[in-house]
Amino acid sequence: MRIILLGAPGSGKGTQSKYIIKDYNIIQISTGDLLREAVTKNNELGKTAKSYMEKGDLVPDHLIVDLIQFRIEKQDCSNGFILDGFPRTVLQAQELDKMLKKKKITLDAVIYLMIEESKLIKRLTGRRVCPTCKDEYHLEFKPPISGKFCAKPTCSEVELETRVDDTPEKIKHRFNIFKQQTLPLVEYYQEKTNILTKINADFSMNIVREKIQKTLSTKA
Ligand code: AMP
Repeated sequence: MRIILLGAPGSGKGTQSKYIIKDYNIIQISTGDLLREAVTKNNELGKTAKSYMEKGDLVPDHLIVDLIQFRIEKQDCSNGFILDGFPRTVLQAQELDKMLKKKKITLDAVIYLMIEESKLIKRLTGRRVCPTCKDEYHLEFKPPISGKFCAKPTCSEVELETRVDDTPEKIKHRFNIFKQQTLPLVEYYQEKTNILTKINADFSMNIVREKIQKTLSTKA
């Protein structure tokens, strides 16, 4: 199964990806996670990507395309993958099409998680991330232990962090970028027969999960 999850920041792509990889025994490829890892390692990619990410801007296409190309060549992708946060521009989608064509594989589903802008601020400003295991919490919807610690026994002493791009101003900027650069992908994939499904993501995680499962059951 090869799936793309499209959606604005805060629409739940990361959370839903974690469910889908378990259901289908496939791997999650999150360009955001890969970039944050590069920033932590302070390698060449990380050094370049950092300033774009801190502003909430998109990292240049050619860097992202190289990153994905390298990642989907790995053996662990042979059973399938879910792309979370990629593609984010039409050029990235076109490059992905070329990569998949070369490998003689096709996409099974593109799922667009729809959510109103007004809901995103609340979702993202309440988000907290464990710096060790990268699990995400929400102060209201998935509260951390004692309001600030990861629930995993191995991480329990680690205080959760707020992402640098989760401030209200940056969230607004990221949403504008989403509308300008990523939303055209809905049309891009809509033109490909039967591949795009729009799901209203303004429900609890479990309800959205059920809707995704229902969609994917028609593709398997
Ligand atoms: P995310 O964790 O998906 O919200 O991504 C965090 C940040 O990483 C974004 O705001 C961008 O700066 C960068 N990023 C992630 N994926 C991409 C992509 N496909 N294209 C360009 N920049 C990206």
